[in-house]
Amino acid sequence: MRATRATRALERLYHERPHAALSEAEVEAALAAAGAPVNRVTVYRMLDRFAAAGLLHKQVDAARVMRYALAPQGEEGAAPRFECDDCHQQFRLSQSAAPVQSALQAVLQALASAGHEGLAVDIAVRGRCAGCAHPSTGAAA
Ligand SMILES: [Zn+2]
Repeated sequence: MRATRATRALERLYHERPHAALSEAEVEAALAAAGAPVNRVTVYRMLDRFAAAGLLHKQVDAARVMRYALAPQGEEGAAPRFECDDCHQQFRLSQSAAPVQSALQAVLQALASAGHEGLAVDIAVRGRCAGCAHPSTGAAA
């Protein structure tokens, strides 16, 4: 992958926000803010290249917007994500992953021993994030 200025800015963006699931528009805005403005087509091309390389994971949110998150690594494998119904922000729930993880492993093992293959887990928790549920306590009030 050629390390263009925009590619490096994109890597830095996900390095700084490892749990973010960003839409193309959010990435485009962040890159522009980081001094590496690129057009929509180029952003999509970079995101798809990262996804093809296994670095990013594509997912469609409840508003049918494609979002790109860092691909799960190692034990974070099937960390559930949380999506806010109001602002559509997504967070990966890595902190509470351990007990969830062992429960998932049991499910996967049961399926695998029943002969099913190519199993992938994608868990999404929906609700309202703290910022939307309690706007008066937030900075944006
Ligand atoms: Zn929210």
